Amino acid sequence: YLFGKKKATEVAHIVWEKVIKKGDMVIDATCGNGNDTLAMLKMVMDDSGGYVYAMDIQKDAIESTSSLLDQTLGSKEKDCVKLFNICHSKMEEIVPQNSRVRMVAFNLGYLPGGNKSIITVSDTTLLALKASERILMRGGLISLVVYIGHPGGREELEVVEAFGSSLPVSDWVCCKFQMLNRPLAPVLVFMFKRELK
Ligand code: SAM
Repeated sequence: YLFGKKKATEVAHIVWEKVIKKGDMVIDATCGNGNDTLAMLKMVMDDSGGYVYAMDIQKDAIESTSSLLDQTLGSKEKDCVKLFNICHSKMEEIVPQNSRVRMVAFNLGYLPGGNKSIITVSDTTLLALKASERILMRGGLISLVVYIGHPGGREELEVVEAFGSSLPVSDWVCCKFQMLNRPLAPVLVFMFKRELK
């Protein structure tokens, strides 16, 4: 059973593995301490390349991700990760034009163990979702882990859900996983961009 004792992020990783192929380019829109970045890198990396473009609005988070990668990877592997200290609403400024982006992943909220006042907010999350919609390739995925236990979290979920609900059904399959008997558990939202028929 999918949820069982697994954390929401681990469930998201299981879905990513079904979508990501070796050699892909993917985006970590909220790299935080780098755990998701590392998981993505393992899924994309092979001899022919594979890239993770990872960003965070906090310098501390970029440093934390960088040090996790230093501890875990060789220099060649680390070259496959590009780190940017920017807001994810600006992702189009750093991703090379005409890139085929297989996934944009968001793990919303605040940095665990960090400054809890620096948090994703609905306005920029929505801008980042719109940017993701523009750059995602067919057969790609926008993945979100949305936390609802903190002030503003539920409103952010509503914005995410409204965005997913507005995407045309001819091009997108949008769904969510939510724990019915754990009302404060993080909610997973997946927006799959269909292949051309
Ligand atoms: N994925 C991370 C990991 O594996 O450790 C955890 C991410 S944490 C839950 C959320 C992150 O979003 C925080 O590090 C925070 O600084 C970042 N963040 C908040 N607002 C942001 C924004 N507008 N653009 C990019 N990152 C942002």
